[in-house]
Amino acid sequence: MPIFTPSRRWQPPFFPFKKRNSSEKIEEAFERTFKGLLWGCRMCGNCLLQETAFICPMACPKGLRNGPCGGSTPEHCCVDETRPCIWYAIYERAEKMGRLEKLLEVFPPLDWDKAGTSALRDVYEKIDAYGKRRTFSTILRSSTREREIKWEQFFKDIRQPDWWHGDDQLHPPRSHEPVSGLEKRLSEGAFVLSCEIVPPAAGEFSALDARLDQLKNLVDAVNITDNASAIPRLSAFTCSQRVLALGIEPVLQMTARDRTRLSLQADLIGASAAGIRNLLLITGDHPNKGCPPFSHMDAWDFDSIQAVWIARKLRDEGVFLDGRMANPPPNYFIGTAAAPFASESRYQALRAEKKVNAGAQFMQTNLIFDVKRFEAYLEELSKRGLLDRVYLLAGIAPIKTMAAAKYLRQLPGIVIPDAIMQRLAKANNLETEFLKISLELIEKLRCLPGVHGLHFMAVNDINHLKTVLIESGLRT
Ligand code: SF4
Ligand code: SF4
Repeated sequence: MPIFTPSRRWQPPFFPFKKRNSSEKIEEAFERTFKGLLWGCRMCGNCLLQETAFICPMACPKGLRNGPCGGSTPEHCCVDETRPCIWYAIYERAEKMGRLEKLLEVFPPLDWDKAGTSALRDVYEKIDAYGKRRTFSTILRSSTREREIKWEQFFKDIRQPDWWHGDDQLHPPRSHEPVSGLEKRLSEGAFVLSCEIVPPAAGEFSALDARLDQLKNLVDAVNITDNASAIPRLSAFTCSQRVLALGIEPVLQMTARDRTRLSLQADLIGASAAGIRNLLLITGDHPNKGCPPFSHMDAWDFDSIQAVWIARKLRDEGVFLDGRMANPPPNYFIGTAAAPFASESRYQALRAEKKVNAGAQFMQTNLIFDVKRFEAYLEELSKRGLLDRVYLLAGIAPIKTMAAAKYLRQLPGIVIPDAIMQRLAKANNLETEFLKISLELIEKLRCLPGVHGLHFMAVNDINHLKTVLIESGLRT
């Protein structure tokens, strides 16, 4: 297994924000040049190479440090098809090295104070703190196994700063009392229905109100997307407050793309203060999926797993990232997305376990058209004991036009099997065929072990959704 993975440095290296002395500058230039040549290093200053099978994760256009996104494929990155998915490569190599399970550890977001500086400095400082003599005698005198354990601990202390302390353990919620109607219904064993709404591009509520009026009493909760497809719309936070005011249960989506760790924490306590109790924390589509002029395309401040970790610590330990206490702490039901069809089922299951360990209590999956492949994903979740540890809502799209099917089919992480497309191509009455397909999917999905409800997405016609729900027997 080659230890060096010379690769193109896709994005430019970071440079330090502050003034450096000459020796620091020399150190940094040396590292930028050699680690750049050997690993495509971008000088993030928070090195994870030791954990990521010696492939630099900072080549990911979303700056993800905790595994592949929902659009990852074995062939290429979903943001830029000219490059491989770096996280697919990391998982594949870690698996060959027998280190895949090590990737369950929740890695921290970047400490930006270190960006552009030499990551080796952390190593020197750690050796100084531990004592040079002690360090070298550990290396020379310990048995291989002891050395391995000490080596692991040495780097863990460096990569897990005091303000993070990430691990690979399950962190269940501190309280088991449901905090929202959605959580209560799920805890009582109800089969729940949620529906996603894309807010209007408007400065008033009339279009949103009309849709909410149709959805009232039809579903258990309404998800409000957060600038879906990287296109700005009426704020998800404002819309969620409106949903609440109209007597419907909102699920507020919050993307990592549009936030820094500061605004995330502010929004978490803000949502709780506003009475919004269901949160869906996601990484978000890359800005290049939206419309020009594009916003920043590089390294994000945190990813969805880190968002879940921050949200759970703020709620259960009442602590902000900087150590201040929230008094009283916020209260919410933490959800996130699942991607059954991205990369490999076993890799996405590992990522799902990481999310659940970090604090996710429910997961809404990407759209399902291929039930067999979804069953394979459930099997992987089951192997990891996740089916009893998280509420899973299966994503479904009650579409009714060929244009919608073709559009969805080319989106990252969505698989519409050829058999379905051929069936639609041969259909005499497309609308009837689409309805039949939706009903068959619902029938199969609601019987699968571990599926606690359905999450409807891409709903353009709520009357059609109503027909689907009534015909399927989910609503009368
Ligand atoms: S993780 Fe950071 S420091 Fe390590 S090789 Fe990648 S960019 Fe460089
Ligand atoms: S597919 Fe996703 S995880 Fe993989 S490199 Fe691209 S953005 Fe990163």
